[in-house]
Amino acid sequence: MHETDMTKALITTVRDWWTEQPRPPHITHIHLAVGEFAGVEPQSLEFAFASQKQNTFLAAAELVIEEIPLVAYCRPCNQEYRPRVGLEYSCPSCRGPMAEIRSGRELKIQHIQYQEAYAPNL
Ligand SMILES: [Zn+2]
Repeated sequence: MHETDMTKALITTVRDWWTEQPRPPHITHIHLAVGEFAGVEPQSLEFAFASQKQNTFLAAAELVIEEIPLVAYCRPCNQEYRPRVGLEYSCPSCRGPMAEIRSGRELKIQHIQYQEAYAPNL
């Protein structure tokens, strides 16, 4: 399953960042931008994350997904439009095929939210 591999990659990326911190913080939320046209199902991603985070440093962390709509640009019409994913990708004015994508293919970590690690120094 595609989302399983995506989630593995996501956790690896966060772990790399986490282990580089002088004091690995307690991660509470991972904010993810997921494009409507990224080929990833947000619900499947959440499901995969919930199962893979168990017994890891991310066990208490939540995934926060921001869905980015697909926006295409038609050069002949000089306009942006919103294709209907899975149904209709052509320009609503000239029926030209979708040629340029302005947004909607993103799959990236936007922000990692965390609390400072408790530092026992007594
Ligand atoms: Zn057009």
